[in-house]
Amino acid sequence: MICEAIDVVTTDVCKFKFWEAFSTEIPRKEKGTFQRDKTPFITFVLGGPGSGKGTQCMKIVENFGFTHLSAGDILRREIASNSADGTMILDTIKEGKIVPSELTVKLIQKEMESSDNYKFLIDGFPRSEDNRIAFEQIIGAEPDIVLFFDCPEDEMMKRVLNRNQGRVDDNIDTIKKRLKVFSALNLPVVKYYLERGKLYKINAVGTVDEIYKQVYPLFAQFNFEQQV
Ligand code: UDP
Ligand code: MG
Repeated sequence: MICEAIDVVTTDVCKFKFWEAFSTEIPRKEKGTFQRDKTPFITFVLGGPGSGKGTQCMKIVENFGFTHLSAGDILRREIASNSADGTMILDTIKEGKIVPSELTVKLIQKEMESSDNYKFLIDGFPRSEDNRIAFEQIIGAEPDIVLFFDCPEDEMMKRVLNRNQGRVDDNIDTIKKRLKVFSALNLPVVKYYLERGKLYKINAVGTVDEIYKQVYPLFAQFNFEQQV
């Protein structure tokens, strides 16, 4: 497994920590600029390239009415729109590196503020401690829960090489770089949320349905209202 250090999080412990995280929620509304009539419910969805974040997010959207914000997709849209930052973002993605935090957070903020929903899945972000801190400072919020899709590197590599989505970064050289960046910069974020009792580790090997069986109960316990 990619992250042996956090293997201590078993399903039972997860359930316990889940409620603990819920009851120790910080007063986010006062802290930041993001104001809606409902306090946002923020889920960060973490995991290496090809760990299945996007696929599982689609199922969570269907069942629980979340708005799915994939940071990678938002950045790719920025490239496609020929914005001033497009070329820099494209070069960064080609290298498997991380786009400057403030830029990514502001794009995520725009999406959150233009949404009528209050339930957000932020997929593929934060990718570094710098990303995480920028989100806290700019949005003034912390995630309510953090999912981590744990998948061995060889499995991730296989999936990315087979997915044929025409992405500039789905080639063997860039994938190797992305895996290195993931383990150096993203795993510390995973560890941070583990220590804060917010992390739910999902075994990301198996069929889509097998994996979703671990994800569904995490959200079902919150009794969200029906689709907004
Ligand atoms: N990326 C970034 N910041 C983010 C999300 C993505 O810089 O918050 C860049 C980074 O270069 C990454 C690429 O976009 O390798 C693709 O990210 P995505 O989450 O779409 O891909 P995944 O790694 O999950 O396959
Ligand atoms: Mg993705």
